Amino acid sequence: MAAHTAAMSMSKILHPFLGGRLGNTAKVFGRTLSSHKNKTGNSRDNIPPPAKYGGRHTVTLIPGDGIGPELLNHVKEVFRFCCVPVDFEVVHVNSAVETEDDINNAITAIRRNGVALKGNIETKHTMAPSVKSRNNLLRTSLDLYANVMHCQSLPGVQTRHKNIDIMIIRENTEGEYSNLEHENVSGVVESLKIITRTNSLRIAEYAFQLAREKGRKRVTAVHKANIMKLGDGLFLQCCREVASDYPDLTFDSMIVDNTTMQLVSKPQQFDVMVMPNLYGNVVSNVCAGLVGGPGLVPGANYGRDYAVFETATRNTGKSIAGKNIANPTAMLLASCMMLDHLKLYDYASMIRNAILSTMNETRLHTADLGGQGTTSEVVQSIMRVIQSKGSLTSEL
Ligand code: ATP
Repeated sequence: MAAHTAAMSMSKILHPFLGGRLGNTAKVFGRTLSSHKNKTGNSRDNIPPPAKYGGRHTVTLIPGDGIGPELLNHVKEVFRFCCVPVDFEVVHVNSAVETEDDINNAITAIRRNGVALKGNIETKHTMAPSVKSRNNLLRTSLDLYANVMHCQSLPGVQTRHKNIDIMIIRENTEGEYSNLEHENVSGVVESLKIITRTNSLRIAEYAFQLAREKGRKRVTAVHKANIMKLGDGLFLQCCREVASDYPDLTFDSMIVDNTTMQLVSKPQQFDVMVMPNLYGNVVSNVCAGLVGGPGLVPGANYGRDYAVFETATRNTGKSIAGKNIANPTAMLLASCMMLDHLKLYDYASMIRNAILSTMNETRLHTADLGGQGTTSEVVQSIMRVIQSKGSLTSEL
């Protein structure tokens, strides 16, 4: 029952939508912002691509590095077992080469199919500074501006804190991830963090719309505006402006250092959180740790036209690759988010419910959760649960 409740709750996870408020592009910084109101915006939703003849969808699949390929093979196995009407177009990205040909092919494939499921592509920091993170390139090229992670206490997983239910909305295209660094003077590196009014308004709008749609009560903007007065100040101001259009939601803000301390002390106080890129990276890792680790939480990247699904904390897991010990939960749940996006809700619920039942009722856990099960044993168990609940196709 607990598993079912959690499954229902998780199945409410997100659909992308775009606010009609892209704001103006006036070069106004800091606190002297002109109003975002009365500006034309794009109100088009992120509409999933229609199914092809026969009701099947084609999705780009990028195996990535480390545990990515094996976890995605398990997704394929489960989809085959459940007769999910999805065909994968597999695109390999070789992270060892410095050219961008592979990632450009992957981006082209996503533009064609509209949707992708991916493993993390390794970014070696020993490569030349000109070699950009392929993951980052993919997200910025496709303007996947909203990273969404729903961090929830899961049935059957022992953790220090209970009853966590936090939605993290992370700006995904700018901030500290602008790839603008230079060393004009030897020994002095300048690394540019870009915060724009347009992108801050649209992520704030996304967070508030999502909060309202999901019946949430509170949105917290995370920032460091006491130090980065212009950059984070602008982000915070944009959140405040958008908040004024949502009187039904409580808006507050919290400095990022206090946020991480509050999270590990009393995480239940948080509802929906919105933040710039790097804080999102840190906070989402803290939250994943709170509910059991990186092997459990799925993540999604939404833009106006495309959606890409992956594990929330985007790990490569190279040291556990090929050992059949990685936890398949996060990637399988990411595939369920993808099925929801494609409006294949029944398939998504069936797989999600089986994952949660396996975790709770069979207590079959991989080593990261203190268990002795292998990845394949967990996946087999999930498929047994699906089978025991009867054929899905007869219900459709
Ligand atoms: P490595 O890639 O060598 O494992 P890393 O520091 O790059 O090390 P990440 O890939 O960022 O690590 O992963 C962080 C930690 O989480 C690692 O210990 C990794 O083994 C673990 N981890 C990530 N994903 C999973 C998973 N699906 N199941 C179990 N453990 C995981």
